[in-house]
Amino acid sequence: MSRLFIAVAATAAFSGVALVGCQTQGSTAADMVMRNGYVYTVDGQNSVQQAIAVTAGKIVYVGSDEGVAAFIGARTQQIDLAGRMLMPGFIDAHMHPGDGGRAMTLCDLKYRTMTRKEFQQTIQACLDAEKDKGPDVWLEVGSWDRMGMDGLDGDPDKSTLDALKTQRPIQVRSTDFHTVLMNSRGLAVAGIDKHTPNPADGKYARDSAGNPTGICEDGAADTMAAVVPPATDAEKLIQTRAALDAMRQQGITSFFDALSGPENGKAFTTLQQSGELTARALLAIKLDPAAAAADPAKTIAEAKALATTYDQGEAKPAPGVSMRHVKLFMDGIINAPADTGAMLTPYLHNTGTEKAPKWTPGKNVGDLYFPPQVLKPLLLQAVEAGFDPHLHATGDRAVRDSLDGIEYVRQQLPGNGFRPTITHNESVDPADYPRFKALDVTANMSFQWAQQAPSTVDGTSDHLGAARFARMEPSGSIARAGGRVAYGSDWPVDPLDEFLALKVGVTRSGDPLNPHSYGPKYAGRLNADPGLSRAEVLRTITLNAAEQLKLENVVGSVEVGKFADLIVLDKNFMQVPEAELARNEVLLTVVGGKVVWAKAPFVGLQATQASVTQ
Ligand SMILES: [Zn+2]
Repeated sequence: MSRLFIAVAATAAFSGVALVGCQTQGSTAADMVMRNGYVYTVDGQNSVQQAIAVTAGKIVYVGSDEGVAAFIGARTQQIDLAGRMLMPGFIDAHMHPGDGGRAMTLCDLKYRTMTRKEFQQTIQACLDAEKDKGPDVWLEVGSWDRMGMDGLDGDPDKSTLDALKTQRPIQVRSTDFHTVLMNSRGLAVAGIDKHTPNPADGKYARDSAGNPTGICEDGAADTMAAVVPPATDAEKLIQTRAALDAMRQQGITSFFDALSGPENGKAFTTLQQSGELTARALLAIKLDPAAAAADPAKTIAEAKALATTYDQGEAKPAPGVSMRHVKLFMDGIINAPADTGAMLTPYLHNTGTEKAPKWTPGKNVGDLYFPPQVLKPLLLQAVEAGFDPHLHATGDRAVRDSLDGIEYVRQQLPGNGFRPTITHNESVDPADYPRFKALDVTANMSFQWAQQAPSTVDGTSDHLGAARFARMEPSGSIARAGGRVAYGSDWPVDPLDEFLALKVGVTRSGDPLNPHSYGPKYAGRLNADPGLSRAEVLRTITLNAAEQLKLENVVGSVEVGKFADLIVLDKNFMQVPEAELARNEVLLTVVGGKVVWAKAPFVGLQATQASVTQ
């Protein structure tokens, strides 16, 4: 498949097709024409057209059914959209496809809110299903809804896992990837005891005697995950294929891997070479806070060496691999019971009783992993080396420090066109809303977090207090202040369900029929922060995401000259009743002019396309 692609691209380079505005140059027969559609372009006016033509992976015409006729030749593949909505492919500008593909192969708790007993039963069933595994083989468990369990039964510890019938070491990862729960055997195998110091960017929870409880947060959770032997190359390819398949079905044509390394670089490059890469891969390199504090120049030089290995340079119609972002975790998460997101003022804790709680400010203001004196010179060197920074910040202190760091680099390097992003932005001080626009910082948001859910409501509302809870997930406020909001699913922190997220982006409420929303207890709006319009949310997952990733010249809208990254929807997102916004499907996914996913009534187009390009 990749050979075909190269052949087509080479033909295009010498064909000299003139591409001017929206107008046809007339005579050249296109590879593909789609017509009779509701073509939602995401151009400057959000104009709606009827038809497009594609040649050599690029859009060569956007306009009327009459106008596209001139592009139809004997070898042109013609697709009748039958009035359906065609739009730019989704660009998911923050996700973790390596973990997503991997989660599909673990003992999977499936994001379900469970009691401690259900949790034990499910993990025991996984153990029982693997009776052939020896006593030293790790059991890895994924997609644990820690916050939901905390609301039902309280937070578990190692004893919850020690009660299971097994000798095997066990580690359980929370859905948000910020916590790992270990059993006693796992802690012993990992060599963690009361004498083990906490890492700079996390902690081992301890009992009153200083012994680890089994709960490992942030950097400590990452250390525990690293104790498990890594996937073999063959396993990694299976996981990466699974991730790409999930993306095709969701209509994702470009994705930002927010926490990558050589393993993902290698896997995506291998699949590209075998013609299996069906989305544009942009991979970010994580910077370690302790290493960066000790020697920022060395940290950046190592990142540069890794990027040089995998970054393929300028984008082409066929999907490629890019590695030109660095990722920094400024803090943890603002959700109870973790309370590790860095806040300007303390979290509240209960000084009353369970029946008559009294929520009062405590001492905990969360954890800041890159203090300003480390952050500022590090960001400066990263930008000077050509990286765009992607900063994880959930708490209002972490967001402010990130903005301050970016402001410093803007002052030091006037005219430098770097594209910084702050991702998550769950709690932002209103004074900082206008700074996203002023400093040209993209606010990457995961809209599905703006629905009422165990993670946002139970515990978290009490720990934040009413004033901060009232402004949680401020995507609307940042957009109203002129900031560029781009969407990222954060999959597999949440299930990959782009239409649910877009629905929440508009309504700030879930969908009672969706398994990834929650029950009647969580009905209604999250808070009073304004929702985005339908046009705005579609822009966050297309052109705004392209701008975040510096891809706006080649993808993000349906315009002449751009790559043909396109999706066709079952229902018209701009016209369905609001309650049905999440009940939609992608029927056709096209990347660089090539059909990579098709279902009824477009089944068979994939094979047809291959024969056409032959
Ligand atoms: Zn993430």
